[in-house]
Amino acid sequence: MMRQYELVERVQRYKPDVNEALLNKAYVYAMQKHGHQKRASGDPYFSHPLEVAAILTEMHMDEATIAVALLHDTIEDTTATRAEIDDLFGPEMGKLVEGLTKLKKLDLVSKKAEQAENLRKLLLAISEDVRVLLVKLADRLHNMRTLDHMPEAKRLRIAEETMDIYAPLAGRMGMQGMREELEEIAFRFINPEAYRAVTARLAEIFERNKDVLTDIEKALSALFEKHAINASVKSRQKKPWSVFRKMEAKALSFEQLSDIFGFRVVVDSVEDCYRALGAIHTTWSMVPGRFKDYISTPKQNDYRSIHTTIVGPSRQRVELQIRTREMNKIAEYGVAAHSIYKDTGGKTNGAGHAISKETNAYAWLRRTIEQLAEGDNPEDFLENTKLELFQDQVFCFTPKGMLIALPRGATPIDFAYAVHTDVGDTCVGAKVNGRIMPLMTELKNGDEVEIIRSKAQVPPAAWESVVVTGKARAAIRRATKNAIRKQYSGLGARILERAFERAGKTFTKESLKPVLHRLARKDIEDVLASVGRGELASTDVMKAVFPDYKDERVTPAAPKQREEGWSKIRNAAGMLFQIPGRAARKDKDQPRDGAVPIRGVRGDLPVRFAPEGAVPGDRIVGIVQPGTGITIYPIQSPALQAFDDQPERWIDVRWDIDERTKERFPARVSVTAINAPGSLADIAQVVASNDANIHTLSMVRTAPDFTEMLIDLEVWDLKHLNRLLSQLKDNSSVSDARRVNG
Ligand code: MN
Repeated sequence: MMRQYELVERVQRYKPDVNEALLNKAYVYAMQKHGHQKRASGDPYFSHPLEVAAILTEMHMDEATIAVALLHDTIEDTTATRAEIDDLFGPEMGKLVEGLTKLKKLDLVSKKAEQAENLRKLLLAISEDVRVLLVKLADRLHNMRTLDHMPEAKRLRIAEETMDIYAPLAGRMGMQGMREELEEIAFRFINPEAYRAVTARLAEIFERNKDVLTDIEKALSALFEKHAINASVKSRQKKPWSVFRKMEAKALSFEQLSDIFGFRVVVDSVEDCYRALGAIHTTWSMVPGRFKDYISTPKQNDYRSIHTTIVGPSRQRVELQIRTREMNKIAEYGVAAHSIYKDTGGKTNGAGHAISKETNAYAWLRRTIEQLAEGDNPEDFLENTKLELFQDQVFCFTPKGMLIALPRGATPIDFAYAVHTDVGDTCVGAKVNGRIMPLMTELKNGDEVEIIRSKAQVPPAAWESVVVTGKARAAIRRATKNAIRKQYSGLGARILERAFERAGKTFTKESLKPVLHRLARKDIEDVLASVGRGELASTDVMKAVFPDYKDERVTPAAPKQREEGWSKIRNAAGMLFQIPGRAARKDKDQPRDGAVPIRGVRGDLPVRFAPEGAVPGDRIVGIVQPGTGITIYPIQSPALQAFDDQPERWIDVRWDIDERTKERFPARVSVTAINAPGSLADIAQVVASNDANIHTLSMVRTAPDFTEMLIDLEVWDLKHLNRLLSQLKDNSSVSDARRVNG
């Protein structure tokens, strides 16, 4: 295990003014906190953060990042707390360590290849600081290096996650060295056979071509010497994973891929890059279409290099990468090469690329982080410059670990619709991170959301103003429209049943089929909905179904009286119909044959209440209002007289109360109060203490000593209303209280 002084020395080598005290303090603190904890390998646990720190020293990271590496598992795995780390190391360090703790929680989430892209974005969103990501990647690299010690069941999952999430992330951060090592180890665990085969073949080819490679290297070196270019030439070993991936992706044979030799030419300055290129191209012929100048046009991860392929000295194809030392460092370490600390020398070499000012380094890091969220492809870049793509998103999980990307401000309802339209349509509640939360809750990154569903649910139209996703909005609108349409067609069916009955016929939906064209409607549901909405008169439907139907010819005897207390009334046209008579008022609320069940405003019919209200316990009747649905009146309501001559608009209805989902119903009362201070408060008090609600209150008449007011109440039922009225009457502030139309 690396000693404390060794670690300090390592950092000192590239950063002479290192803050030794910080490193020493972090080393001792982490070692003490992890104490006797052991890794799966049997090694002391502390060896892990120490190795992670060592990986970061290879990238020449600053001491703050190294210290964070030492501390990275303390909050999660030991008694250490954020507050303690804030105290000892300052809040900046505390925040970084906490960032890593948050990322660690993600390890528990199942990762599927198809959600890798979103997971990387979530990682970025949670990290906030690039140093957190660097430590996370180094942490992952060390875990991969020691993957052999993990239980076999876990190895494959961790290897796949590395291949899908972390290796590409390292690549996007420009850290090719890290990427290649992660891929190499992951490949070995994911597909051991292929890994062995490809590795063996590569070694074999390397052996066979050793001499050729030496020849090419010599020829190149001689060429640069001739042109007085100071260059180091190295052959590049092909990596097993990249060979295997290309074989699969491009369906190429091993030979097609491996007969190309790769060399890297590292020079002192940008001028030398182009001079070297000129010398090469005038000596050997280049392979067309293979030249790329990433110096004049860097890749978005800041990778800079010239790529070309030539037909080499012994007629083989040779791939060349030409770059400066600075560019090579960036290609190898990416983000880390730019590091957060000032380049100690502060010198700018010929590449003009060294970052000597801290502000530049930060700007570059910010830009990189923003770009990390986007594609590898420079072509994609223009399309993806919308940064809100990443900043305006939140990433949440289903309980099964599926990742759902949503716009910022999204609610559990949006989440439900993002999972599936059915889930959204039947959503009645949500658990966020295991706790029941309101459906309006704004979701945060990393939230686990469980949707509570009910088959009986119809999405309320009001949700439309709550959701932020187009998908949810469209689905809610569709569901609302469907529900309303269903209500109207249900009402239409009732109206037609009555009309047929009056004519002594039995209504069936099938009877509408032959007359659809005559009614200019596309299907039966359409006819029913049109009748329900009042756009199509029931008599027109009758005439279409029975061509010789005439209102006057209907025999008056047709409908049989179903119940005592219902009056037969003949209208002006001589039609006979029945309405509830005075006697019906005394009836108990027994269901009547053919009566439409009414469940407040949320039943299967478009129902509203008369302005004076109606409450369970009232005998009620429905009046069809073309275009709006049914209005429910208490049978005693004088307003009903207005409909006496329109029997076709009367609908037989009854209460259908679900005891489990108790609803309140409207009732209007008139209260005459004594004008005295506090009398209004007295009335409100009586209402409140009786568990009723005041919906609206208006003064109708004010005399010097009395005020008459109308109060629209919400009550459970008639008993509740009557109890309330008698208590109001008993109140000393009230001289009279009675139901309007009661
Ligand atoms: Mn760790």
